[in-house]
Amino acid sequence: MSEIMNLPPMRREDHGKKTLVLDLDETLVHSSFKPTHNYDFIINVEIEGRMTTVYVLKRPFVDRFLQAVSRKFEVVVFTASLRKYADPLLDVLDRENLIQYRLYRNSCRPMQGGFVKDLSRLGRNLNKTIIVDNNPHSYLLQPNNAIPIGTYIDNSRDRELLDLIDYLDNLDTYENVTTVLGSRNN
Ligand SMILES: [Mg+2]
Repeated sequence: MSEIMNLPPMRREDHGKKTLVLDLDETLVHSSFKPTHNYDFIINVEIEGRMTTVYVLKRPFVDRFLQAVSRKFEVVVFTASLRKYADPLLDVLDRENLIQYRLYRNSCRPMQGGFVKDLSRLGRNLNKTIIVDNNPHSYLLQPNNAIPIGTYIDNSRDRELLDLIDYLDNLDTYENVTTVLGSRNN
């Protein structure tokens, strides 16, 4: 079922950078499949043969966050959602192409009734790979590479992405991120 692929080789300009793997739903945005007035943009997605309007609300500071992290990291979005939904969404969210690569559900490992994002299959140095995901199930294979983040729905006062910029700046100074992130799990 799953076709877990290595990423293409790191671009020359990203050599020496760490890889930042970002979840999409409830980490960077919240999408509603029911009409709502609380959204930043809409996309149209074909679901079960019908065109459906999806209302996408951006997490506060997501634009500033992507700008900041893309200067220091190779940025990858890894979503358990389907490509036909994630691609049109990311085309709008990331107009400046700050995200280098996109991985979708077909790159996840189905495990224990959910989708797991196995970072060991990306073709990157695990000591220099970080995942930010609101769902701990996503990183159960590599918890020492993970930065947990709260689930975003619509709290307009949410500032987790803003705080994360500084945290990642500091984490970037360490040779091996798992020594820092792993110590938080003990
Ligand atoms: Mg999520």
